[in-house]
Amino acid sequence: MSSTYRPTGSTIRSIDRRSPPSYGLGQIVGQSEFALVLSDQLVQIQAGCVILIFRDHPPQIASHPPIKASRRSLGATPITTTQPATGTASTSEVAEWLEIFADALTRNDAEAAANCFHEDSYWRDLVAFTWNIKTLEGRDQICHMLQACNAATTPTGWQIEGDPTTTDGVTDAWLTFTTNVGSGKGRLRLRDGKAWQLFTSLQELTGHEEKQGFTRDMGVDHGAHKNRVTWLQHRQREQDELGYSTQPYVLVIGGGQGGIGLAARLRRLNVPSIVVERNQNAGDSWRNRYDSLTLHDPVWFDHMPYIPFPDHWPIYTPKDQMGDWLEMYVKIMELNYWTSTECTHAEYDAAANTWRVDLVRDGRPLTLHPTHIVLATGMSGSPNIPNFPGAETFTGDIMHSSKFRTGAPYTGKHAVVLGSNNSGHDICHDLWEHDVATVTMIQRSHTTVARSGGGNRAAIGNYSEAAVAAGITTELADLMTVSEISALAPIARKQATDDARAANADFYARLEASGFLLDFGEDETGIGMKYARRGSGYYIDVGASELVINGDIKLRTRVTIERITPQTVVLTDGTELPADLIVYATGYGNMVQWAEQLISKEVADRVGKVWGLGSNTQYDPGPWEGELRNMWKPTNQPNLWFHGGNLAESRNYSRYLALQLKARLEDIPTPVYGIPPVHQLD
Ligand SMILES: Cc1cc2nc3c(=O)[nH]c(=O)nc-3n(C[C@H](O)[C@H](O)[C@H](O)COP(=O)(O)OP(=O)(O)OC[C@H]3O[C@@H](n4cnc5c(N)ncnc54)[C@H](O)[C@@H]3O)c2cc1C
Repeated sequence: MSSTYRPTGSTIRSIDRRSPPSYGLGQIVGQSEFALVLSDQLVQIQAGCVILIFRDHPPQIASHPPIKASRRSLGATPITTTQPATGTASTSEVAEWLEIFADALTRNDAEAAANCFHEDSYWRDLVAFTWNIKTLEGRDQICHMLQACNAATTPTGWQIEGDPTTTDGVTDAWLTFTTNVGSGKGRLRLRDGKAWQLFTSLQELTGHEEKQGFTRDMGVDHGAHKNRVTWLQHRQREQDELGYSTQPYVLVIGGGQGGIGLAARLRRLNVPSIVVERNQNAGDSWRNRYDSLTLHDPVWFDHMPYIPFPDHWPIYTPKDQMGDWLEMYVKIMELNYWTSTECTHAEYDAAANTWRVDLVRDGRPLTLHPTHIVLATGMSGSPNIPNFPGAETFTGDIMHSSKFRTGAPYTGKHAVVLGSNNSGHDICHDLWEHDVATVTMIQRSHTTVARSGGGNRAAIGNYSEAAVAAGITTELADLMTVSEISALAPIARKQATDDARAANADFYARLEASGFLLDFGEDETGIGMKYARRGSGYYIDVGASELVINGDIKLRTRVTIERITPQTVVLTDGTELPADLIVYATGYGNMVQWAEQLISKEVADRVGKVWGLGSNTQYDPGPWEGELRNMWKPTNQPNLWFHGGNLAESRNYSRYLALQLKARLEDIPTPVYGIPPVHQLD
């Protein structure tokens, strides 16, 4: 007997295709490939397409233990309702390809290996073959890379992990392999028997694996010992010595989330490191931002390495709570984290292969000699502060957005905010909530608006509660993310943007009707591509857009400030606005400015622009590089690295940066392939 059950609650945790036979629950129709997950979120998304047919039993699914997603779930990016094929056909196709490919690599026949790829194909490598972060585009580039790197890499032991899947003619498989120095993970996407995309990544260095699980430290030396050294004494000794009688191998300059996460990875790899942070406390990088700020990205995206947020943690973390989390993290992960320590200058000694770094620690000068320095000083450079005539005569307050804390002192007064990206919107929002009499936003150019929670923000790709329930750990989601090819990202982003536009058509129509200059990027690929290309030009809407729509935030477009008088702002169209507060939400310079400021112009010029893909769109001039410039990988300045990005990027790429540094510490040869030519700032 069959009965049809349409779930209305969210009691069902997770079912995969194997559950009907093993649990006797009947057929599942129309679910995603590997797992049907009924959380509140997914029920909404999948409403109408999820139907369970039970033969003999009433649904008692909630009482079954949650089923772990099999590794083949890695093939679904993100959770999808399409129905890929799995099984022996897909597996044999991958196995056949791997056999030919592996054989060519073993014979060091780069041409034969490259012939396993389509002419129009991609290979993204994170450190495994190239000791670089590099995407090869097309068979010729792949062949060239293999000619340069394969012999030194000696990849072997290619294995398929989990069951490959085939969707729309693309067979998708996860792989493991080993190289001469470590173990790697990869992802292969085949079309018509040839590789369309290959992803390879180094995951561990053999003999230098992080201690975990069965290999964790004892923490105690049982027995009777005179002069026993306690954990605290040991820790204090390390802190007293490192930077004074011993030198760190790596100095991380900047202790925001980026520097902290990297230091945790280095610690786990036994790389002697210090983080220097000019703030008084770890976490102040977030605390010092404006009071109303909460993270714009949801919790699943934001975990630090090793210690995820507990499962009651709010979806959007308030900035002071984030500060507390980071402060706790620094302590628990036993980081050598120097607060109230500013780096004032660094100079590379090419003969000694080390840096001389001048610091001021608690007001006292100190010089360190690390082998490597990592600039984790934030992905933005210095604040852009415009210079308008008459600013010096202004009797109110003028500040850059980075200095704005709260609208409280301006209740009943008049405020003008120059800029319409995230900070501009958030600050206008905060001023309005503090009953500032008039809040005017000056919008000089088009801005992309993505709705937080409404559009695609509550879940980002495989970072969501539904993904967690399906067993997609942060580590797996991270691998899925880095296995994607930048050159192909605009296609997916355009689709996601189109979907969000359709879903929010009324909202966007009302926003445009208010006069707001709305765009979705030059090629309509939305916020994701703007972030990768220029790191700016968007607002994640957490409420200010309605204030713009209904006129509570007054909008002035296609103008800027012409001059400032003691109590007003005069716009380029001649309008004069009363003002007690002027905020420049005008963004920041490029990250390479830190190198110029702390090291020298010569080094900054040698490194060139940091961030951007070379897409030849506004603020991201070509030529195309296909990877973020200078981030997390070797630069043209020996022993200088850049680290940062949002929480997910910092977590994800700190793994690969830490491995690069560890390999150098252990004198493992790291021949770098394909450092691109320098691209200077405009
Ligand atoms: C309003 C706003 C909202 C955001 N929301 C999110 C979000 O939701 N999710 C997300 O992932 N990201 C978000 N971001 C981006 C966020 O800035 C970055 O993710 C994050 O701050 C980058 O971390 P970081 O460690 O690379 O840099 P920062 O946090 O900027 O840290 C750099 C640190 O370097 C220190 N420093 C600089 N120079 C020196 C020196 N000479 N000596 C010693 N120390 C120095 C600074 O004091 C600072 O603490 C947001 C940013 C803003 C402005």
